[in-house]
Amino acid sequence: MNKMKAVVYRGPERLAVEEVDVPEISSQEVLVKVKAAGVCGTDVRIYHGRFRVPVKSGRIIGHEFSGDIVEVGKEVEGLAVGMRVTVRPIMHCGRCLYCLQGRTNICLSRPTLGYEYDGAFAEYVRIPVQAIRNGNVFELPENLSYEEAAITEPLAACVNGAERSNIKPGDTVVIVGGGPIGLMHLQLAKLYGAGRVIVSEIKEERLKVAEDFGADLTVNPLEEDLVNSVKNLTQGYGADVAIVAVGAPTAIEQAIRTVRKGGTVNLFGGCPTGSSITIDPNIIHYGELIVTGTSGSTPYHHWKAVRLASTGQVKLRPLITHVLPLERAVDAILMKERGEGLKHVLKP
Ligand SMILES: [Zn+2]
Ligand SMILES: [Zn+2]
Repeated sequence: MNKMKAVVYRGPERLAVEEVDVPEISSQEVLVKVKAAGVCGTDVRIYHGRFRVPVKSGRIIGHEFSGDIVEVGKEVEGLAVGMRVTVRPIMHCGRCLYCLQGRTNICLSRPTLGYEYDGAFAEYVRIPVQAIRNGNVFELPENLSYEEAAITEPLAACVNGAERSNIKPGDTVVIVGGGPIGLMHLQLAKLYGAGRVIVSEIKEERLKVAEDFGADLTVNPLEEDLVNSVKNLTQGYGADVAIVAVGAPTAIEQAIRTVRKGGTVNLFGGCPTGSSITIDPNIIHYGELIVTGTSGSTPYHHWKAVRLASTGQVKLRPLITHVLPLERAVDAILMKERGEGLKHVLKP
């Protein structure tokens, strides 16, 4: 049995780089040699044992990745050895009400690579038959690097978010949070027609990056009142759309007060389990607000993310501030937690 290096979860705050067996594939599966894997906020939660899905001891984590197909089961069609690919890690059932509606991202059963299945912080990852049947494996255009391709996974969720935010040409859009997700939303809001994008973020260096990405106004809510700043820019109306790209109840309460009557608020960031918010329901009632959320992506969103990244319409390269060897997975996760840098990519 061939061995490989992998980042294995052994319980809260216990992640170890171990020598494990290279996964074996069935005749309906493929094996991918991982070239790049992104560190996500979810990995931070898993590391601390605080993720909504209980991750078993012994699990290889990592769900944002790209690599080369190195082995193809003989019943697999359309995939070949040598293909450069990225993979949507969520597997949907195809039979529940939400799948029938095409909303496969909110499927009732959505086991995911890196949570319930071994993931990609490893030299090799097995792509289960269900992922292949779901259409989750995407060949990379030649010009898309492995590093960029690895982070098309969060971009796909942002594409889903942008499409659920009712952005119309000329709209004023508020993005709460200027981390990697907020910066993806900033770029997408412009692509989907926003006339002006306002980014709210408490880290000064991130506000600078948001300006480089074309934010029309940046606000540090610790220094100025976000709601006032947005109203000042919009003749007192408020923004057409607000996207909350952080998982903080207070940020949601604030975002709801930044939008005009009839505006849309999209809760994109997940909050800690058991969170609650306090708002005057009349803001929604009299204002006819649309309050929605976004979770994950469908294969279509991932396909679109790959396309937007390869055409350069969404720039992912400047978001990758750290490329680290697999052995430094814990460092990368802790950096992510401290908000040091933007996107951290591991190279096995
Ligand atoms: Zn993620
Ligand atoms: Zn389903």
